[in-house]
Amino acid sequence: MRVLITGGAGFIGSHLAEALLESGHEVFALDDLSTGSIDNIEHLKGKPGFHYTIDTVFNDSLVAEMIDRADVVFHLAAAVGVKLIVERPVHTIETNVHGTEVVLKHAAKKKKLVFIASTSEVYGKSVHVPFREDADLVMGATTRHRWAYACSKALDEFLALAYWKESRQPVIVMRFFNTVGPRQTGQYGMVVPTFVRQALMGEPITVFGDGTQQRSFTYVGDVVGALLKLMVTPSAIGQVYNVGNTQEVSIRGLAERIKAATGSQSEIVTIPYDQAYEEGFEDMPRRVPDLTKIHNAIGYVPQVQLDEIIERVVAEKRGYADANRVVR
Ligand code: UDP
Repeated sequence: MRVLITGGAGFIGSHLAEALLESGHEVFALDDLSTGSIDNIEHLKGKPGFHYTIDTVFNDSLVAEMIDRADVVFHLAAAVGVKLIVERPVHTIETNVHGTEVVLKHAAKKKKLVFIASTSEVYGKSVHVPFREDADLVMGATTRHRWAYACSKALDEFLALAYWKESRQPVIVMRFFNTVGPRQTGQYGMVVPTFVRQALMGEPITVFGDGTQQRSFTYVGDVVGALLKLMVTPSAIGQVYNVGNTQEVSIRGLAERIKAATGSQSEIVTIPYDQAYEEGFEDMPRRVPDLTKIHNAIGYVPQVQLDEIIERVVAEKRGYADANRVVR
């Protein structure tokens, strides 16, 4: 198949591109390099079947042309990372909402299958873990900028499902749960690459809040494997799926594991949320996916667990540190 990946030079996009090429597909990556990086696709350049275009999803005529050429579209281009979202809320809302509008509008003309990248963040402050796809979403006040991300992604989901309902435009909505792995940058606040970088540099490891908040981290390879299977699962069309891992860890526990895995002398420090992000910042205490639906659809079971994920990220970042390159 000919596959278009918006955000193809991003963290998840570049792993997906690699896997698709390995399975014999042709890949067209579109990326404006805002949070993605050319480094992520350097090793793919020149591979047969790999094409990339540096431009934005706001470029209507380009997106129309690229969708015309593709059989399937993975729409991964988005503003991500809590730090970025809190600092640049206008950019977040515009990128996430308008980008998806453009992609769906053009895909609908030719009825090309579109994957919409959503997020576990849409469950918001809900405490009903594990989160099921049909559960209520619980957002905070609009004065708390963090929730702009969840709302923008929820709107993307509504729009995709509306296209499916009104015009049978095929869509599949994916809710990614804290996806991590090599190539993810800590620049936009993501905790695993941030802690690994801090540990390797001997800097304080910065736990925000009291560190009792829990997350369940998913290896990027597990996410990519699920996407490849869903791409050829017709019954998935029109559906919303969680994709994640149910193994939980507290953020303090994560800091301790990363410190041990790197043999670092870094001190673990706690920083209040309003200092780390902004006044009145709200975090969620737990976030765990219910994986029943995706398991029933494609037999999904996550293969890579937290300690191994940490090892792989450490190995990658050590590579950067040893080569005296910038550790991101
Ligand atoms: N976090 C932290 N220190 C950091 C970055 C993040 O303690 O340097 C915390 C953050 O407050 C949250 C968790 O780690 O409770 C996961 O943060 P991330 O931004 O990776 O993803 P989120 O789950 O918030 O979308």
